Amino acid sequence: MDADLVLETRGLTKEFRGFIAVKDVDLRVRRGTIHALIGPNGAGKTTVFNLVTRFLPTSGGRILYKGRDITATRPAEVARLGMVRSFQISAVFPHLTVLENVRIALQNRLTRDTYRFWKSERCLDRLNDRALDLIESVGLGGSEQQKATDLSYGRKRALEVATTLALDPEVMLLDEPMAGMGHEDIGRITALIRRLAKDRTVLMVEHNLSVVADLSDTITVLQRGQVLAEGSYAEISRDPQVRQAYMGS
Ligand code: ADP
Repeated sequence: MDADLVLETRGLTKEFRGFIAVKDVDLRVRRGTIHALIGPNGAGKTTVFNLVTRFLPTSGGRILYKGRDITATRPAEVARLGMVRSFQISAVFPHLTVLENVRIALQNRLTRDTYRFWKSERCLDRLNDRALDLIESVGLGGSEQQKATDLSYGRKRALEVATTLALDPEVMLLDEPMAGMGHEDIGRITALIRRLAKDRTVLMVEHNLSVVADLSDTITVLQRGQVLAEGSYAEISRDPQVRQAYMGS
């Protein structure tokens, strides 16, 4: 086993009633990298995300997380093992404040194992301190008492990242983190993803090619459910098949 690989798929396949949405995909995501999945609409990117996080059952192939076969593992267990999908599924309560949202996320992570923690006198202080650290780390310092609903779109997404980080993931899957964002928010989230990737692995689906070029160590290009090319941005943008199929030149 290659110890550098944190997530690997072998022959990953998904069929929806006879329609093959993902076909024989071998994905190799290295620890500590930012890995982007790109490709035209319908290429199978979201389906791959849903398969590796086990939100969808596979039709064929295997999924390995840190060398362990998770092809039949339940989604909650996948999250507990450290691979967490952000954005589309994370719950932000609009009418609670930033601080309340992050505190709830932190509380969710605590289980019966931490019974002693709950009983400790400083429990609330420590929960608050940890929440404030997370809020600061996503660039929301100073907005602790603002209601989530009053945040700009980009800052809401930063809050979603904070609630996801409360689960302390090793691998974060980000589904179109820049979708619908203005220039300023894109800059903020780009910086945040770069910071996250210092001690985590990031796998993201993103349409904004300049963001992909700027952030990614490795890019996998999907087309009609299959891998068309893989490599650095410089490598894939030289690939004639990619240029023709994806970039239109
Ligand atoms: P992308 O994220 O790259 O836009 P998707 O993974 O969403 O692509 O979809 C890949 C293909 O699979 C599309 O043709 C889509 O219509 C099809 N598909 C996705 N989910 C389902 C489903 N639940 N049932 C049937 N077809 C689906």
